[in-house]
Amino acid sequence: ATPMSIMTATGRGAQAGVLVKTAESLERLAEVDMIVVDKTGTLTEGRPVVSDILPNAGVTENHVLELAAALEKGSEHPLAEAILDAAGERQLDIPVANSFEAVTGKGVTAKIGTSRVFLGNAVFARETGVDLDGLDERAEELSELGRTVMFLVQDFGGQAFLQGLIAVSDPVKPNAKVAIAALHHDGVKIVMATGDAPQTAAAVAAVLGIDEVHAGVLPEGKQKLVEDLKAGGHTVAMAGDGVNDAPALAAADVGLAMGTGADVAVESAGLTLLKGDLEGILRARTLARETVRNIR
Ligand code: ADP
Ligand code: MG
Repeated sequence: ATPMSIMTATGRGAQAGVLVKTAESLERLAEVDMIVVDKTGTLTEGRPVVSDILPNAGVTENHVLELAAALEKGSEHPLAEAILDAAGERQLDIPVANSFEAVTGKGVTAKIGTSRVFLGNAVFARETGVDLDGLDERAEELSELGRTVMFLVQDFGGQAFLQGLIAVSDPVKPNAKVAIAALHHDGVKIVMATGDAPQTAAAVAAVLGIDEVHAGVLPEGKQKLVEDLKAGGHTVAMAGDGVNDAPALAAADVGLAMGTGADVAVESAGLTLLKGDLEGILRARTLARETVRNIR
């Protein structure tokens, strides 16, 4: 590629709402036939709002929310913001948490008083030894509405109790459906890879017309999915916004970071969609084709 055409591409990319870090990424985008997309913050707005708090028998909503908020004070996940906002609205007294730990793709845990508290997905909650039976059906209903469900478990020295669940809703981006339909029309297959639960993922995928869904996937799982698709002969782009997407963004033929996302996602990607606008992928593809044509 000549320097001139790359400079032009960079400038025109910016106009199209795409930050071009590497010219190769832009060129490869023209050949991409498969895009792996993260759900939260990529397909959805990424600004979840608490929609439901379901305490277990004998527990109050506020108790569930207070403990959850105490944990999330230590987290930078978008889910944390939703929970802290909800606790703030209710003007709750948030207890102090110590020895905070975030488990990527699963949840958060910390010590509160003499107990250890866990908040996260079903897999994470089950690891504490509780069974989710009491809230399982409700959780499934909420997930089928596309909401993300988090279970709160409190362990008092070897005995764990399921205290309740918190669900958040996170609407899909207004142009996500149009962008996906246009990519389909352009011969691109769309695969969702998310750490969220299977029902939640399926509900969002159905709304958007996504071809294939991989749920409950950890960061290395997203990376492996990208590598497997590449090994299968596809030219693969990965679109994501989170710390958990960084390995997959780096592994893809073309990494597409959301400009609204984590710094490490942007650093791992060759292209950044400013404002997280998925239609930027289409504009960048058009641009890529024009650039490649100019070079050859
Ligand atoms: P995604 O791939 O959709 O961006 P993540 O991999 O970040 O999602 O998280 C997967 C799941 O782990 C979430 O749906 C949630 O249930 C749980 N989880 C992750 N981080 C947190 C957190 N800070 N608080 C509560 N739950 C969390
Ligand atoms: Mg995300």
